[in-house]
Amino acid sequence: LIGSVLSRSVIYTGLPPTRLLEIIAGRDRSNYSFFLPSGMSRLAVLMGLDAKELLWKHTPFPYMTAFMSIAEVERQEAKLLSNAEGVVSMSALIQSVSQGLPALRFCTRCVDDNRLKFGESYWHREHSLPAMHICSRHGIPLRLSTLDRRRWSRGYGEGLPQHQQGATELENPSGEIQETMATFNIELLQSKLDKTANLLANYRTQALALGYTTAGGEVASAQMAADFSSFFGGDYLAAVGCTVKPARPWPALLVREGTNVPFIPAKHVLLQTFFRHCAPGPKKLAYFPPGKRPRSVDTLDDLLANKVSMAITRANRRNVRTTMTKLLQSAGGWSAFRHDRADFPKTGAVLADFRCTEASERKTGGRAVHRKRMLKRAQLQR
Ligand SMILES: [Zn+2]
Repeated sequence: LIGSVLSRSVIYTGLPPTRLLEIIAGRDRSNYSFFLPSGMSRLAVLMGLDAKELLWKHTPFPYMTAFMSIAEVERQEAKLLSNAEGVVSMSALIQSVSQGLPALRFCTRCVDDNRLKFGESYWHREHSLPAMHICSRHGIPLRLSTLDRRRWSRGYGEGLPQHQQGATELENPSGEIQETMATFNIELLQSKLDKTANLLANYRTQALALGYTTAGGEVASAQMAADFSSFFGGDYLAAVGCTVKPARPWPALLVREGTNVPFIPAKHVLLQTFFRHCAPGPKKLAYFPPGKRPRSVDTLDDLLANKVSMAITRANRRNVRTTMTKLLQSAGGWSAFRHDRADFPKTGAVLADFRCTEASERKTGGRAVHRKRMLKRAQLQR
């Protein structure tokens, strides 16, 4: 983590942190965050590094921007690397990490390894992310440093992880859940997310496949949000900056069609973790038949899902628009599906995906018209 460099400089130069920052940053030292200091280009020159490399390899920038479009990431990058002083507001990016982090974390075994190899330790990027509680290298719990929220824009006088005693975090999810979150976090830090994939449609598909389906075949988003909240618990969600408000639960918004609000990376990580650990099958929804579904229904669902997929591919190839009803009819499953949608989660998921595509006759036009109408109404009100 880039802030380590400044902490080390304080140790080696013997200068007070404020004096050191004056020398390095000149006037522009309003934001010398551990995570994303301003004047990145100047720091890069002093460190003998390429500025882009510094940004991508030594700050949480790839994590912060993981869910932004490629164009937006390029815009943010250009802003951060431009030499214009003081015009850049990085607070939103910084907050996407800092609001879910009680203090900088470290791993005692990494400290030992680093001292052996480099003669000193440093703050690791991957340890100081929200919802990160174990070291992925050593599999042991991370420890909390004294560099908490109040200190990490000016904690350069507090030394390196090796100078820390470290405290344990009190309440966290179980080890398995921690591992899943760690895996997702590291994927984001390593920019492994497929930017072209329709992530929100993917979330809907996953929710449906897990059994969060309403009688109408939509995502049972309110129920899902409620189960999500009890899975992590309110205290934990607050600690990672992802509180779920009952009136407007963000997990429900995240699986809703047409959502445009940006969500911080931690929310994506938590939702994906919940999906990974949630057992598929009927959920406590009033209209679900009780008990386990017979195997034969699963097979029927598989068959129908397959046939519908093929019908969608055909429609795409011929470049024609169609409807869910027509697709189900051509697959010979319309009456079975209409009768008991809850028994066809996979087919429902395939159809939900389809409805976001150009080939869907009903939804594309309908949505655009609806959006225009809502926009007009909003403008009139203003
Ligand atoms: Zn470690």
